[in-house]
Amino acid sequence: MTAPQDQASRGEADDSKMLLALHAIAMSGMEHGLCVLDKDLRVVLFNRRCRELLRLSHGALQLGTPLRSILDSISDDVATTTASRETMWRELEAALARHTEFDLSRTLPNGAALRFYFRPVPGQGWVCTCGQVAASEKPERRRLDQFGHAVENISLGLCLLDSSKRLVKCNQRFMEICGLDPNTLRPDVLYGDLLTSAKRAGIEEGPAIDDMVEREGELFRAEAVTRRLALPQGQTIEMRARPLDRGGWILEVEDVTTRLSEERALHKHIELRDAALEHMAHGLCAYDEDLRVILVNRRYMETYALNPEDARPGTPMLELMRCSIARGVHSGNLDAEEMLADLKARLIENKEPVLHRRLADGRMIAVRHQPMSAGGWVGTYEDITEQDRTEKYIAHMARHDPLTDLPNRVLFHEQMAEGLERAAAGGNSLALLCLDLDNFKTINDSLGHPTGDELLRKVAQRFSNALKDVATVARLGGDEFAILQSVRSAQESTVLAQQLIRLVSEPFIVDGIELNTGISIGIAMAPENGTARDHLMKCADLALYRAKAEGRNTYRFFDPSMDVQLRERRAIERDLRHALSAAEFHLEYQPQINLKTKELVVIEALLRWNHPERGLISPAEFIPVAEETGLIVPLGKWVLQQACTDAARWPSTIRVAVNLSPVQFRQRALLAAVTHALAAAALPASRLELEITEAVLLQQDEIVIGMLHQLRELGAHIAMDDFGTGYSSLSYLRSFPFDKIKIDRSFITDAGHRPEGEAIVRAVAGLGASLGIETTAEGIETPEQLELARRLGCTVGQGFLISRPLPLTDLLRFIGKPARKATPAAKRRVN
Ligand code: C2E
Ligand code: CA
Ligand code: CA
Repeated sequence: MTAPQDQASRGEADDSKMLLALHAIAMSGMEHGLCVLDKDLRVVLFNRRCRELLRLSHGALQLGTPLRSILDSISDDVATTTASRETMWRELEAALARHTEFDLSRTLPNGAALRFYFRPVPGQGWVCTCGQVAASEKPERRRLDQFGHAVENISLGLCLLDSSKRLVKCNQRFMEICGLDPNTLRPDVLYGDLLTSAKRAGIEEGPAIDDMVEREGELFRAEAVTRRLALPQGQTIEMRARPLDRGGWILEVEDVTTRLSEERALHKHIELRDAALEHMAHGLCAYDEDLRVILVNRRYMETYALNPEDARPGTPMLELMRCSIARGVHSGNLDAEEMLADLKARLIENKEPVLHRRLADGRMIAVRHQPMSAGGWVGTYEDITEQDRTEKYIAHMARHDPLTDLPNRVLFHEQMAEGLERAAAGGNSLALLCLDLDNFKTINDSLGHPTGDELLRKVAQRFSNALKDVATVARLGGDEFAILQSVRSAQESTVLAQQLIRLVSEPFIVDGIELNTGISIGIAMAPENGTARDHLMKCADLALYRAKAEGRNTYRFFDPSMDVQLRERRAIERDLRHALSAAEFHLEYQPQINLKTKELVVIEALLRWNHPERGLISPAEFIPVAEETGLIVPLGKWVLQQACTDAARWPSTIRVAVNLSPVQFRQRALLAAVTHALAAAALPASRLELEITEAVLLQQDEIVIGMLHQLRELGAHIAMDDFGTGYSSLSYLRSFPFDKIKIDRSFITDAGHRPEGEAIVRAVAGLGASLGIETTAEGIETPEQLELARRLGCTVGQGFLISRPLPLTDLLRFIGKPARKATPAAKRRVN
């Protein structure tokens, strides 16, 4: 993930390294000495030739050395006395103050001359080149012919003029450079004539003679004067007239084309380098072996809140660190010495490729150092804050659930591995709690995923608030949560489980709707139930299944018998797929009577599965599996057809009631299934009653409401089943005009024992009466309950007391003698 950035920054460091290396090569190959000064006249750049020419020791010319101190260290051979150094300095100062280019010459005791050319770098300082113009032995020792020879052969053109500017002598080079014909030379010829005759002679390749003539007046003065002339061939020559002490002038002419082009190349090079440095996305700081700054770029200074004064060439790295520390740039409390020691140890000695430094404002800087072949290092400073943030974010996302920000399965497994290790090492036990929201699937399917997601977020929030220091909680997916708890005994997990159940039983408000849910919890313990992660997860899952099967909103500890049950559930799932085609289903019918007249009014169809090996399996066991697998759709269609067919044989005053699953409402084909069943059985729709639970209606979904209206338009009755066990029951009664409310069995059981139960049944029955809706009391098992239901205002009754669900043949017999309260067949139990 980091590779491209790494390559980029390494690329930049390589570029700058190369730039500096090129620079060094360019400078070391130069014939001239070169020294670049900043505006404070400190050395920013120099080459070796410069040290050689001035005979300076290593220490006397370094980055950052002030010009003045260079002068003071110049070898005595170059400047003999303190007085002459002083003169030189004053001369220099005066010239520098003019801010235009100038040159200076210094005749060495050996007769050779050192020439310095100073050229201003706009707003930045000076470039100074120096060269030796003539080298020879001491004058008193040289022989005349040797001198003549030397003069003829030096690269400088020389011409001696007397005080009336007549030619005394000139060398071959002078004539060459000026393009003069030796034949036109006469002693005593006037300088002006010399030039005009040269012009007359038609030496077209000669210099701009007119210029030379015109400048005659400027040239011959009391002080030395230098002029530069551009030759038509593109060369540049420099002409200098120097007055002699005893009258007359010496004219020196030099072809400076090469020197100038070298200088220009250098300028270009410096410009290029500066531009490259300025535009680097990363900070750069090059420094020498002594960890002194060679150069820095703007980005580097910005990163460390430095200004150009702070980061002058020659400044020790330690100083820079002190500066940025003083400005509060760094986080942590390393002092400059420690920081430098750390940098040296890690980057230079241990060659760590990159050092990450966190700054006080939160930025993250990746520091890389690369040695330069010429000694010293190039450091690059890359701001990787974003990248660091992104990496951290990605790392976080890989191990957390995006919806709730709780640890996900990956992180949970890691935490679990640690916990298991501790448990195995003989510490506390590790309790693993697997949690599952009780009616999440219904909420999600009916209220929509955004509501489901919001509910999960709120549940997660409650968990993490409550468990902060007690245990770690993760979301494993869907509505599955898992908790790890380090415990001394199982009792602690019991307490936690009860606390969690209480937490979730408080209603949640999502989008203004009050949602009631519950959780089932399965608990497994390590090392008691095992120490392998997957095994323990399985144990907790099994315990969770048990908790759900045994009423939900409760917890169960794992016990080995649960494994057997799970295998059974899997077997049900497998066998269910073949059961319909194998004709293993049939219906039983449970009568409902009018509580006043005792007349048989409705008969509810209840599905039975007669498993070839297991015998009768309760719908409570297989309907949820059929719903999960979608098998409920063909199965429900079969129930409709069978129930209608059977009902066609009953007296026309009796309706048949068929239960519909919420899953069937997800299929638009439901309406067709109903019409088809009615048509095939030639049963009028008015004899069909469809029982739906609140789960179907949880959604204010127009499609479902529309389907219900269509079913009712056919003529079917719609009953609300299990009223009171759902969510916010009363509000759903308003969403559709039901024909009947079936009050859940639990209220009828309660009504006998608790006054609240009675109050609820009375209220619902009263509501039904006021709305003109029938109310059925479910689960009437005793004559007392029957009497109570009637007294509280219920209009219809259903229950074992009236009749257990009956096979068709028994039912037909029952219909024949409806007055009987119980039949022998009614003693059969299903579950
Ligand atoms: P339900 O719709 O509430 O059906 C009534 C359940 O209560 C039946 O259980 C019935 O046997 C039982 N019952 C009736 N009177 C009494 C009583 O006095 N005391 C007690 N303790 N129980 C009584 P069953 O047949 O086991 O059905 C369970 C559930 O399975 C049904 O509850 C219904 O939700 C579902 N179911 C049954 N058949 C179908 C079907 O064809 N389609 C769908 N979607 N669900 C069905
Ligand atoms: Ca029912
Ligand atoms: Ca019911």
